[in-house]
Amino acid sequence: MLYDTIIIGSGPAGLAAGLYAARGKLKTLILEKEMDGGQIVGTAEVENYPGTKAGSSGLDIINTMVEQVKHFGAEKKQEGVIEVDLKSQPKKVKTEEGEYEAKTVIIATGALPRNTGAVNEDKFIGRGISFCATCDAAFYEDLHVYVIGGGDSAVEEAIYLTKYARKVTIVHRRDELRAAKSIQEKAFNNPKIDFIWDSQVKEFVGDMMVEKMILTNLKTGEDTEIVPNEDDGIFGVFEFVGYSPNTKIFEGQVAMEKGYIVAGEDTKTDVDGVFVAGDVRTKDVRQVVTAVSDGAVAALKAEKYIDEL
Ligand code: NAP
Repeated sequence: MLYDTIIIGSGPAGLAAGLYAARGKLKTLILEKEMDGGQIVGTAEVENYPGTKAGSSGLDIINTMVEQVKHFGAEKKQEGVIEVDLKSQPKKVKTEEGEYEAKTVIIATGALPRNTGAVNEDKFIGRGISFCATCDAAFYEDLHVYVIGGGDSAVEEAIYLTKYARKVTIVHRRDELRAAKSIQEKAFNNPKIDFIWDSQVKEFVGDMMVEKMILTNLKTGEDTEIVPNEDDGIFGVFEFVGYSPNTKIFEGQVAMEKGYIVAGEDTKTDVDGVFVAGDVRTKDVRQVVTAVSDGAVAALKAEKYIDEL
């Protein structure tokens, strides 16, 4: 079957594209390799997405978006894309399950959390190191946790973690946070949060779980060992050091810059009929609200492209 558009990724950008495309009567297929929603699903309370009730979680917002998309008749499949041929017409998208063809493709594959690159980090992911406060905060009820990073994600999630942890220490590689001032203020005023400045993680040490974390002070070169308080026995590490775009399968097919797919506000890539929406696009502001905006634009541009074919 020939689709009008195949949307790869069902985070906010992909789902918004799906809503606009399906509502615009395009034969639409949305492919997602994991669960719907992307990164926002890990956010316990989304305060800056207009039109949502106080206390709405990322998952609440995504569930509503999925309902809307289905209501207008978009087809959804949980299949991971392994290969694409974007330059042909129709365009070909291969998954582990099959091969699909479409007149247009909207790439909305988002980004994945980055690692710090410290020694033994991979060994302890899920064994003391986490990338998701909503998922794992409850494991550290009344314990001490460390948050690595100084951006919006790190500071917001540190604030969230104070609901569970006894103490939250933010470890940042500079002496000034990158996070928005309003978010910084909340953290500075939170008595459960303290900071270790100018430091980055050098190494994680342990047997089954993280037992020790070695930090290096980047100004003095001095190493500090972080170990659990005797009564606690363990501590948690939550890393929020930015994201890498999910673009491996598109290498050599569309123009990219530092791994992000190049497009302006019109979401048009350098390949006719291929559009890119959300965090995976080259852009300044990566928010749910800008991702859904991209999704809407991409679907409308795809519709126009099909009309002109
Ligand atoms: P980010 O803004 O890229 O910040 C990453 C942080 O990690 C920076 O403080 C960076 O330090 C630090 N870092 C990077 N590599 C590191 C390493 N190897 N070791 C230690 N620290 C490292 O990422 P983000 O906070 O995830 O935010 C991503 C985007 O989403 C941003 O545009 C942000 O505004 C947006 N966002 C918005 C909200 C909101 O508005 N509510 C919430 C979450 C995210 P430096 O500062 O020294 O570079």
